[in-house]
Amino acid sequence: MVGTVPEQTKSLVEVAKELKLEFFLVSFTDILGATRAKLVPAAKIATVASDGAFFAPFACNLGLGPDAHDIAAIPDANSLIVLPWQKNVAWLASDVYLDGELFAASPRVIFKKVLEQCADLGYGYKTGVEAEFFLLKKGVQGYEIADAMDTAARPCYDQLNLMRQFDLISTIVRYMEELGWEPYQCDHEDANGQFELNWTYSNALTTADRHVFFKYMVKTLAEQRGLTATFMPKPFSHLTGNGGHIHMSLWNDGSNAFLDRTDEMGLSAIAYEFMGGVLAHARGLSALCSPTVTSYKRLGASNTNSGSTWSPRYLSYGGNNRTHMIRIPEGGRFECRLVDGSANLYLAQAGILASGLEGMAKHLNPGKRIDENMFVRGEEFSDLKKLPTSLLEALQCLEQDALLMGALGLEGAKTFLEFKYQEWDSYNSTVTPWEIEQYVNC
Ligand code: ADP
Ligand code: MG
Ligand code: MG
Ligand code: MG
Ligand code: MG
Repeated sequence: MVGTVPEQTKSLVEVAKELKLEFFLVSFTDILGATRAKLVPAAKIATVASDGAFFAPFACNLGLGPDAHDIAAIPDANSLIVLPWQKNVAWLASDVYLDGELFAASPRVIFKKVLEQCADLGYGYKTGVEAEFFLLKKGVQGYEIADAMDTAARPCYDQLNLMRQFDLISTIVRYMEELGWEPYQCDHEDANGQFELNWTYSNALTTADRHVFFKYMVKTLAEQRGLTATFMPKPFSHLTGNGGHIHMSLWNDGSNAFLDRTDEMGLSAIAYEFMGGVLAHARGLSALCSPTVTSYKRLGASNTNSGSTWSPRYLSYGGNNRTHMIRIPEGGRFECRLVDGSANLYLAQAGILASGLEGMAKHLNPGKRIDENMFVRGEEFSDLKKLPTSLLEALQCLEQDALLMGALGLEGAKTFLEFKYQEWDSYNSTVTPWEIEQYVNC
């Protein structure tokens, strides 16, 4: 298998020789989910593997001032992915260190701490993510749907629109196959210009690393074709937004601890307790799973051209029913539909897992399953809590959630909230065309 190196026992120097690599892309995500990297010649990887590649934390959205010491990104050899379109380069996810200690505001470090708590309880956390994206091109009036013929009001699963992008989509699938990700389905999604390419779940840290790489790969291959791929949660007001649903299960000794075939839905008692935790913390989790201003245009939309937003509004769960925040597509797993295309999966999964583990520790009950169309009947369930309707509200919910603040840690929470409140302030200080239209004659 090209690219993925199972449980790395060889040094990166040996791997470079074996795979004829000339460069390593030593990468990490900042607190906002952006990818930062240094390109390291293979001849110098031994030093970087032990001491790290150095970055100024202030310049890469990790908090601290311009006077702070450098942070060191130390690559995780197990995350290695050879760029399928540039086979002399391998990408590596890294853990960030400051002054010789793991850096507390690094998203991957934050997630690994929660994963350790999970492992201490004897469980492995496995997830799959659905990273929806739009293909756009730059027109005179800004970004437009790349395919001018993709205009139907209800384009979901459209065969012609899908196959017009065959070159790009089949290339990505071929690459994912080479990397051993086991892609299994691709479709045109519910919005014009929107696609989803699915690959198989794995342990949650690998899924987060692959999610970072997937976004990079799709954006790169789109750019090579003169297009822009965007994962932003709501690029167009009238169209369905980009979700990033996460499917999850806990595993114990090689068997799925969320599976219980005797249950009507095929879920075990701990799966329901885990779900109870996710629902109990959902309002604070929004800040991690739907972390941008535009996330709330996806969640808050009353409708779209296709007739459905496909995004949740209530803290509720159902069976195989896409109108809830949590859906149970089949036994042994459930899906969190709160996550969107702007989520940093290290942070979103850290929050979800911490919530789920607390649900298990406290034997939380997720309440009753609701077998209704929540988009139509949601308001009738007056005792159901609602998801936040703005980034500001979500940030306030996060700040009030001691468990999630604890999972992020003091430094992580402080850095995340500082950046996100700034983002909200910047948005809130901007007068939009909608406001002019609405109020010019007031
Ligand atoms: P949807 O029906 O929501 O569109 P998709 O097929 O697009 O679902 O995505 C489902 C994701 O869930 C995939 O990544 C798949 O591998 C993953 N998945 C399947 N079973 C499990 C499981 N037991 N635990 C975690 N993820 C799972
Ligand atoms: Mg320099
Ligand atoms: Mg899907
Ligand atoms: Mg989808
Ligand atoms: Mg889904």
